[in-house]
Parts: sequence; structure tokens; C-alpha cells
Amino acid sequence: MKQKVLVTGGVGYIGSHTVVELQNEGYDVVIVDNLSNSVISVLDGITKITGIRPEFEQFDLCDSVKTTNFFQKHKEIAVVIHFAAFKAVGESVQKPLMYYQNNLISLMNILENMKRQQIQNLVFSSSCTVYGQPDELPVTEKAPIKKANSPYGNTKQISEEIIYDLICSDDNLKAIALRYFNPIGAHESALIGELPIGTPNNLVPYITQTAIGKRKELSVFGNDYHTPDGSCIRDYINVVDLAKAHVVALKRLLAKKTKQNFETFNLGTGIGVSVLEIVNTFEKSTGQKVNYKIVGRRDGDVEKVWSDSKYANDELGWKTERSLEETLLSAWNWEKQYNSKKNE
Ligand code: UDP
Repeated sequence: MKQKVLVTGGVGYIGSHTVVELQNEGYDVVIVDNLSNSVISVLDGITKITGIRPEFEQFDLCDSVKTTNFFQKHKEIAVVIHFAAFKAVGESVQKPLMYYQNNLISLMNILENMKRQQIQNLVFSSSCTVYGQPDELPVTEKAPIKKANSPYGNTKQISEEIIYDLICSDDNLKAIALRYFNPIGAHESALIGELPIGTPNNLVPYITQTAIGKRKELSVFGNDYHTPDGSCIRDYINVVDLAKAHVVALKRLLAKKTKQNFETFNLGTGIGVSVLEIVNTFEKSTGQKVNYKIVGRRDGDVEKVWSDSKYANDELGWKTERSLEETLLSAWNWEKQYNSKKNE
């Protein structure tokens, strides 16, 4: 029998790419998403790629009654992959309560129901923001968790602590927290990709929207950081590579191969790239010009961070496969495809 996986936030960016990989590997997927930052047509893209339309329920996981009803109806769920959360660093600085409420209450509702229904496996969508500005680079999983730079980062720190505490209280429960660096790009089919509602907060969608003419110019947040070109440095990871890591983590849980009941893995390329380098690489690999101007720093940004992904490489047998050039090209192809469809 096919194993059933609940993917919360499965209509969203990383969620939708993960649903594709799960369905390609033969898992049965049920998605819960409130569509607060995603659109339902993503399900059509998933269906076109995989030939399977995933089961979908639209509700807010902060609603404890709806969440409980859902879990009572879906007793056969073997693994939960929890993506559903707000994710914009800058916005979280402006609206901290919204971030704490949304990201933490939904997690607690899910965990409570997992415990009640004896669902033993959780893959949690975490972030390199849990490290704040690390003292040493590249950052390993053993790096101290320092004070988060933003409420968003803090919700990820607190979420990991909540999961850890619950696991310590219950030997049956196991979780893997995947700490992503910066996911970018789109599925090679250009049928799904990053689809921010309104003005994009993240760098690459802002670049693709500028290149296509939807935005006048990209604002580069700061050129006075202690980095070679003065702009911030991140580790940009291809979203399909990232999605595949979730399937590996899920298999590890189901095969009971975890070494501890709560494990954390960094998911990145191990390479730090500056904002200006991203702009240049985008221009080179797509042939498109990106207008930009340098503006002041953005609140909540760390100066530089990139991963040491050796532990994930060795322990999960997973590594990134797609280059930065092809990843930026995939983001551009997605932007073009999405706009041509909209204009049909
Ligand atoms: N960034 C930028 N202009 C934008 C959006 C982002 O210069 O319009 C920079 C941001 O300051 C950071 C990097 O791009 O250094 C990545 O930001 P993003 O929001 O994509 O991801 P984050 O690292 O904050 O999770």
C-alpha cells in the first residue's frame, strides 16, 4: 500500500516542488494550505508534471478545531512534512506578532494532533536563520544557536525547541529539521515555481520580475557590508535539489534509520554568493538586463552565511546537483512561462 504523507503548505514554493518529488517516488500526498501566500493553480502544475492531482484541503492550521477534524479524518498519515509558515525576514520585523502567532500556533496544533493520532514522523522546514550571524563560516549543524536576527528566525528557533521538547517527552516521535539556506529556481518544466503574491520579498523573484518589466528596478539592500563587493552573501540552493532532500529525510524516518530522535541537517551548496554576483550571474545566464540601485540595509539581514553541508552529504547521501547558472535560468523560464500563460 502507498504511504500517505501530509504536506502542509504544499501549494507553496518549496512545498509544491516537494509534492512533485514525493508523487514521483510513489507516495500518496494530502496537502493542507490556506492559500495565504499561494494560488490554487499550482495544483494544475503539479498534476501536469506528475500525472497525479494531490488531495487538497484548504484551511488554516492555526484553527485547532479544523486541524483536529482533519487529522481524525486522515488517520492513515505516516509522515508530516510541515512547510506552512510565514517566511519573510523584513516583514517579520514589521509584524512580529503575526509571525509568532501564525508559525507557532500552527506547529503546536499539528504536533498535538500527531501525538493524539500516534503519527510518529515529522520533517520540519527550518532555516539557516536559526544560526543568526555565525562566528565561523561555513556554518555546521554544531554551530551555536545565537540570538535570531529577526522574529521570523526566532519562530524557527522556537519551533525547533518545541519539537525537541515534545520528542524528549515521547520516545515514539521522531523528527528531522532541515535547515535551508536560500532556495531559488523552479522546476525544469517551468510548470511550477516561486509565485509570490504582491511585491516579492525575496531576491530572485524580484530579479525575474524586474527583468520581465513588472518592476522598475531591484533595490540591493546595502553595499557597505564586510564582504568583497559590499553586498550580503548567501548560499543559494536549487529548489528541486532541496525538495529531493525532503524525500530522503522522509525515507530515513520511515526506515527508522535516524541516529537521534531529533536530527538537524543543513541544506545548502556550501558556496557563498553575494547579491551583486547573483545579479551578474542572472544577466549572463539569461541574457537579460536587471536594473538595480543600491539602497540602505534591510532590517533583520545577516551579513553573510553559507553552509557546511558535509553532514547532510555524508549522512543522508544527498547533495546539490544543479548549478547556479541553470538554477537562475530555471527561475527566468518560470517567470516567462507564467507571464505568457497569464496573458493568453
Ligand atoms: N535582497 C536585496 N533586494 C531584494 C531582496 C533581497 O538586496 O529586493 C538581498 C537581501 O538583503 C539578502 C539577499 O538578497 O542579502 C537574500 O534575501 P532574501 O530575502 O531572498 O532571503 P533571506 O536571506 O532574507 O532569507
